[in-house]
Order: sequence, then C-alpha cells, then structure tokens
Amino acid sequence: MTGSQTAAAVLMYHALEDPRHPVAGAPRGELVYVLPGEIFRAQMRLLADSGTDVILPEEDTSRDPRTPSPNGAPRVVLTFDDGHASNHSIALPALLEHGFRGIFFITTDWTGAGNYMSAGMIRELAASGMIVGSHGRSHRFLTDLNDGELIGELAGSKRALEEITGTVVDSISAPGGRIDGRVAEAARAAGYRWIFDSVPALNASLVPGRPAHRFAVMRSAGGSWFERVVSGNPPRSAAIRFRLFEVARKLLGNRLYASLRETLLGGGRPSRRGR
Ligand SMILES: [Zn+2]
Repeated sequence: MTGSQTAAAVLMYHALEDPRHPVAGAPRGELVYVLPGEIFRAQMRLLADSGTDVILPEEDTSRDPRTPSPNGAPRVVLTFDDGHASNHSIALPALLEHGFRGIFFITTDWTGAGNYMSAGMIRELAASGMIVGSHGRSHRFLTDLNDGELIGELAGSKRALEEITGTVVDSISAPGGRIDGRVAEAARAAGYRWIFDSVPALNASLVPGRPAHRFAVMRSAGGSWFERVVSGNPPRSAAIRFRLFEVARKLLGNRLYASLRETLLGGGRPSRRGR
C-alpha cells in the first residue's frame, strides 16, 4: 500500500517518559509501551516535516479521491491509551507545537490516582482542542464481562468523562484491544461513534461504528519502523507477531495469556492489568 491515498494509519501511544511522572511500579512488560519523550517529539517532528496529514477520524476524507493526502502517504491519527500524566506534560505540548490534534483515552477509575491525569488535566486537554475518549472504567477486558458489567464500563466511563469535559464523549479504545462483535454492538448502543482496537493494520477508511485498527508504537520500534508505518508500508513482522499472540490468547484465555505475554515481552512479574 505504498503511497496509497486511501488509507489511515492510527498510532497508539501509552505513557511517555517523564521524570515528573514516573511509571512507578509498572511491571517490566508494560514498559515496552513507554516511549522516551525525545523519541516521541522526534516522531511528531517527522510527521510535521513530511507534510503528513494528521487528522481526527471525523476529518477522514480519504474516500474522496478529489482530496488526496498532501504527501501521498496515509493520513495519521494519534491516540493515547490509559490516561498517564505524561500525556498531559509531554504529548499535549508536542501536539500543540505542530498544530496536531489527538485522541486521549482515559481509564476513568484511575483519574487522579498515582501518575494518571487529574480531572483538571483532562479538562485542559479538551479545552486545547484534543479529543477525550473512554478506555473503560476499570481497564478490565471488555470481552470478559457479562452484559451488565459491559454496559457499566461503557456508560459509566462515558458519563464520567462528559461530566469532566462538558462535551460529548463518543470515542472509545478497548483495554487490551479486546473487541468482539458483542462489545462493538454494545459500544455503538452506548453512543460511541469511533471505536478502536489494537490490530496492527492500516485502515482503508475510518467508518463510524466500525472498529479501527491501530499500530502500537513500542519502545523497541526504531525510526525505520515508524517511517514505514506512516508512509503506508508497515513491516509484516508486526502483523505476524500479533497473530501469534492472538492464537495464544484464544488457546489460553485472557488471564493466562496476560501472564504469558508478560513473561515473553518483559520477563517481569505478572501484570495486574494488561494494556
Ligand atoms: Zn490500556
């Protein structure tokens, strides 16, 4: 899909390194998602310098051939999961510097706890033109929940974020990327318009109600990986690794899988909460 004008690459970030907001006590397996601030800023500069069209989903006009992306590369959507305070201290200023807007998915039970963003920080994101979305209430995997619990996560987090921001919250990313048909249907019924999973693939277009795929930007990913993804030519290794993990998850179930994955990725103690 090199040079495709009909694709959107959605990037998924988590916490960024900030000594003011350490990723304290995080199992090593989670640190694979924590990017040094300097690397993150370099990636934003690269997007700006290359003329990449950084958009929000509702701005996706990639289906209209009359408006090709300025540099012929996919449009890029920036997303941030979990609501770590470094999203406010590092990501927000970097996005504003380049005139980019992104989507920040908040786990509402964590708001203001430890090094997660306070309600005031979340409000500031919204006031700065960023989109605030839901990452569930407790970060439990939505596919593991019964219908009542599922609705509680979807509606409860939406309500909490709407109270904080004073705006309609209609974007959600699933904790651990776990989405199936039932979860997607429940999310749509709860009023979510933009739904995101963690399947590392380009999107031909961004369609309301249809889960959009995202590339996790990992600490180990080099500059060439990043350049390939945002130029519409993602390495196949990401998709292959994802499929291998998916096979393991289906065989083991979410709980056992989380601890296996922790061992493989980080060699640390089992995670209390997967990403
Ligand atoms: Zn998460």
